Amino acid sequence: MAIERTFSIIKPDAVAKNNIGAIYNRFETAGLKIIASKIVHLSKEQAEGFYAEHSERPFFGALVAFMTSGPIMVQTLEGENAVLAHREILGATNPADAAPGTIRADFAESIDENAAHGSDSVESAQREVAYFFSTEELCPRTR
Ligand code: GDP
Ligand code: MG
Repeated sequence: MAIERTFSIIKPDAVAKNNIGAIYNRFETAGLKIIASKIVHLSKEQAEGFYAEHSERPFFGALVAFMTSGPIMVQTLEGENAVLAHREILGATNPADAAPGTIRADFAESIDENAAHGSDSVESAQREVAYFFSTEELCPRTR
């Protein structure tokens, strides 16, 4: 099994509902270790840059407005097959399609406000981790 790093966001809806701790518990229960974490309130430019791959999609404006509507928690997670393991506990993009017991099934209301983000590949994870964290801010576990 490969030890990977992935990137997670707890989105403004879930932060507003005080679900940070409950979602962190899901990460830890799944064996994913938080090696960097902070709360931030994105500017419009930061949100547009993070979601640049979606800039031509019809929902882009709504996505940027939502992601700047309040603080978010951003974290780097480390563990065995972390990218896929994290996507599995996250659930489908639309919470209506998310498997029971997943983060989006349990904490999200709609596809517009779907509680959390997870990198979709190792390559995306590298880019997304670097978008928010310097190398010095990553603290791999030593015990
Ligand atoms: P993810 O990787 O599961 O987060 O999904 P995508 O990368 O396809 O989309 C990124 C984010 O854009 C999603 O998590 C949603 O917040 C948002 N999004 C995706 N599809 C739609 C849509 O049809 N309408 C709206 N309003 N937002 C969407
Ligand atoms: Mg995505």
